[in-house]
Amino acid sequence: MKLVDIHCHLNQKLFEKDLDEVIKRAKKVGVKAIIASGTNPLANKEILKLAEKDEIIKASLGLHPIDALGLSEGETGISKPEGKIDLEKEFEFIEKNKDNIVAIGEIGLDYHWDKEHHDEQKEIFRKVLQLAVKIKKPVVIHTWAAEEDCINILEEEIQDKVPVVLHCFGGRKSLATKAIELGYYFSVPPSTVRTGNFNTLIKKVPIKQLLTETDAPWQSLLKGERCEPAHVLETVKKIAEIKDISVEEAAEQIWNNYESVFG
Ligand SMILES: [Zn+2]
Repeated sequence: MKLVDIHCHLNQKLFEKDLDEVIKRAKKVGVKAIIASGTNPLANKEILKLAEKDEIIKASLGLHPIDALGLSEGETGISKPEGKIDLEKEFEFIEKNKDNIVAIGEIGLDYHWDKEHHDEQKEIFRKVLQLAVKIKKPVVIHTWAAEEDCINILEEEIQDKVPVVLHCFGGRKSLATKAIELGYYFSVPPSTVRTGNFNTLIKKVPIKQLLTETDAPWQSLLKGERCEPAHVLETVKKIAEIKDISVEEAAEQIWNNYESVFG
């Protein structure tokens, strides 16, 4: 069985001490590819280094919408490591590394943490999508409380030029339907085994458009515990149960989806 984690943050401090063990456990359950995602210039550099460490780790470089704004901690409620970002310079950095990456992400829109700079967010989002089209890479999208704007912009900028993956999509049903019709993929995390939060989405999205991720260290199976790539196995089991197919069948289809998006 081949499993895949298409979105996680292995550069986070929580993995500093035992990353080798984490990778070993993932391999043991059958994980064959892990896409580590960057969220800002510093993280992007860390991700490229990680990808050199082990063949199983693939790099995705991006700019989280909140990081991209470069606001101070007090302005958004979450702490971000870097202040103002030189966006043009970062786009150049990503483009320069295009042969070392499998995707652009995570990128997107976040109106949950930021209530004031939506126009600026949208402008940055369009630019980074244009970069993805230019270097022909799939995009992995974060959207929180901004799903409608997000899908509209994706529709305008991407059309069907590169594959789109919506990570941990929490938008309303009609938007999910629209995204399914546009041919977008949806990646779901292990936390759905505990909370059921993505079970309706799993039911709705055709298996040919489903992917697995962990968003590790977040989106964990057990509340308060660290998530890690090995946990995708539990998500695959959940998908198999909801779709009423075998775990092997679910894993195979998800692996094929991974190859058609990122291969
Ligand atoms: Zn993430």
